[in-house]
Amino acid sequence: MKVTALAGGVGGAKLLIGLDQLEADTTAIINTADDAEMYGVHVCPDIDICTYWLAGLADTERGWGLQDDSFEVIDALGKLGVEDWFRLGDRDFATCLRRTDLLASGETLTGATELIRRALGVQMALIPMSDDPVRTRIGTTDGRTLDFQEYFVKHRCEPGVAEVRFAGIADAKPAPGVIESIRSADLVVICPSNPVVSIGPILALPEIRETLIEHPRVAGVSPIIAGAALKGPAAEMLGAQGEEVSAAGVAKLYSDLLDVFVVDLADRDHTHAIEELGIDVRVTDTVMTDAAASLRLASSLL
Ligand code: GDP
Ligand code: CA
Repeated sequence: MKVTALAGGVGGAKLLIGLDQLEADTTAIINTADDAEMYGVHVCPDIDICTYWLAGLADTERGWGLQDDSFEVIDALGKLGVEDWFRLGDRDFATCLRRTDLLASGETLTGATELIRRALGVQMALIPMSDDPVRTRIGTTDGRTLDFQEYFVKHRCEPGVAEVRFAGIADAKPAPGVIESIRSADLVVICPSNPVVSIGPILALPEIRETLIEHPRVAGVSPIIAGAALKGPAAEMLGAQGEEVSAAGVAKLYSDLLDVFVVDLADRDHTHAIEELGIDVRVTDTVMTDAAASLRLASSLL
């Protein structure tokens, strides 16, 4: 069984560790629109979250970075007068330095991602959505334009969101292997990641949406449970785009490409509204509290 999963950060990583425990050949296509250049290195938050979770190295409690990492470098930079709100740990820094070095020597982001995941012992194939730069920018209700990490980390998602843009998307192509891995998959899974800023950029790349529409078996898992995100700004962003903040609202965003949508037990009342969109619905416990819960959800998807 060949599975291709579209993923962002933590919501994606949690389902990927479930898929990784199954007898399936899984490829993950990962969002890169929240990548950033920080302190001279190329940071790929979603690729690194997925890599660290799959390698068993992630700080799963905090949701970002590596377990037991230290923060000597970032603290030293702070003392040099550098803005230190992006708390890149020391070993996390090493990942980003390695990536930056590979990119500087002419490697693609796809190649760098492959080398790093192998070095960290990850079995699953991980492909960045694109080798071309795409950057999420947040237009705030008070008229500012923020880079995604400024909005997300520096301002802790506090500014009101008026607009979400993906700079560079018009010139970006899917990375090599992305379209192929969707076409050849027996099952495509849209992970419960932020529909606007994690899955949104992947779907906005040329050819991806069409390829998913043609695919006969696309299953999504709702990241919205009982009208709220478990963590992060997904609910607020859906609202800002004028979408309904519910499992049905997410289903509507994906309605042209989904064959099945998996919603949480708390959202069984939305079944009918989602079926009206021509999508089959499965209701189950979708809260992945640990690896066993991730495995249960991944098994039920297969
Ligand atoms: P980020 O890049 O780390 O912010 O993470 P993602 O975009 O991958 O995921 C954020 C979304 O994941 C939020 O909307 C959460 O509600 C959702 N999420 C996180 N954990 C779970 C879970 O265990 N189950 C479900 N269904 N959604 C989850
Ligand atoms: Ca992210």
